[in-house]
Amino acid sequence: MLKVLKFGGSSLADAAQFRKVADIIKSEKERRYIVASAPGKRFSSDIKITDMLLDCFEHLYDEEYTDTSFTAIENRYREIISDLGLDYSLEEEFKNIRTAFVNHAGRDYFASRGEYLNAKILAKYLDYKFVDAGSCIFFNNDGSLDTEKTNTTISKVLEKYEYAVIPGFYGSMPNGTIKTFSRGGSDITGSLVARAVLADIYENWTDVSGLLMVDPRLVENPKTVSEITYRELRELSYMGATVLHEEAIFPVRKAGIPINIKNTNAPEDKGTMIVSKAITESSENVITGIAGLPGFTAIYIEKDMMNSEVGFTRRVLETLENHNICFEHLPSGIDTMSIVLRSDDIKDFKGNITADIVKKVNPDSITLLDNLALVAVVGRGMISAAGTAAKIFKALADANINIRMIDQGSSELNIIIGVEEKDYIAAIKAIYNKFVNEE
Ligand code: ADP
Ligand code: ASP
Ligand code: MG
Repeated sequence: MLKVLKFGGSSLADAAQFRKVADIIKSEKERRYIVASAPGKRFSSDIKITDMLLDCFEHLYDEEYTDTSFTAIENRYREIISDLGLDYSLEEEFKNIRTAFVNHAGRDYFASRGEYLNAKILAKYLDYKFVDAGSCIFFNNDGSLDTEKTNTTISKVLEKYEYAVIPGFYGSMPNGTIKTFSRGGSDITGSLVARAVLADIYENWTDVSGLLMVDPRLVENPKTVSEITYRELRELSYMGATVLHEEAIFPVRKAGIPINIKNTNAPEDKGTMIVSKAITESSENVITGIAGLPGFTAIYIEKDMMNSEVGFTRRVLETLENHNICFEHLPSGIDTMSIVLRSDDIKDFKGNITADIVKKVNPDSITLLDNLALVAVVGRGMISAAGTAAKIFKALADANINIRMIDQGSSELNIIIGVEEKDYIAAIKAIYNKFVNEE
């Protein structure tokens, strides 16, 4: 049995949290490879180290500001070391980072030092080997991950050590410079390590007792999801359930390694198991979870008989391709189609895109609908439970929420509803209440 564990920022925010983490790790000898995040928030108004580093970088040319900020960052680490009573110094590392900063090392290098330094402390505290992610996670020149090289290198390097700590969030480019994943990316590192060492399980330790049916910042005390499939979770994390980075699923899914989301502050709680095939056919409440995001725009196109016009959709989508834009959803009727896109992606080309579409397909009408939010209702049980959609629409109607768009994924795993941005939190609450509290 071999376990890979990833601890998030709040799990490693101060010495008290480090002690909990060490207790968890040392309680099972199978817990061998540990991925560490940078120190997160100790209390709600606190600032994560990664945010402090990025802020420091924003003020690159303000020497006084960066000096003060960097000292504050160093002090967080000094405090952890002294509170843990460690005979250990990071002063040399701090000096190197300051020098690199002055010499204009990149933004990603700087952002990555949060996990680098924290992993060093954790390795020392546990008396585990420190293995730098820069020497075993590799990106290609286009910024994508070099999956093969990463996988073989991690597995070769870790073969040498029975126990090790690896910093999350970053790897290196072909020219040796440091590149980070997108925010929250330590989850991806954990997944890559789990796959490379062929772990039996990837434990992802955070500050909640697993994936909850909805974002706990929107609904008070939502139910925990005990079991979820990779595909369901992918839908939810893509739509804003940020407990696990949306890309963290791929490496372990390939290898069939389950992920267990666990709470560092309540280690006895079972948490959530993320698996390829769930033991239970449906979640207790038919739906597994709900997530939502604002910031979408729909392009609504109408043309009589568009269905019989060969190549109609291709010509419309070509317009987007020419502007290098991806679309999110494409619900369509006989004489209508809507394209849902992220508003940020098209904000600079709105006029051009509509003009191009008019030129290419000559529609009867074309309308842009801004300020759209999408709500995803996800559940493997929906396929066999009649009336799920009706129940969702009833919940929204009862809450007086106007539905602007509906799209049922072809897998019947999810129903996506477009509502006005001002309504989306109320929409999530209404759907949750209907399925969980009015059963
Ligand atoms: P970590 O620093 O451990 O990686 P994150 O802050 O990235 O932790 O993720 C955990 C947070 O995700 C929770 O504290 C919670 O606020 C948020 N979150 C959003 N949606 C959900 C959800 N559906 N279930 C659980 N947590 C969620
Ligand atoms: N520390 C990084 C962030 O705050 C990565 C992570 O926590 O996963 O985004
Ligand atoms: Mg996270």
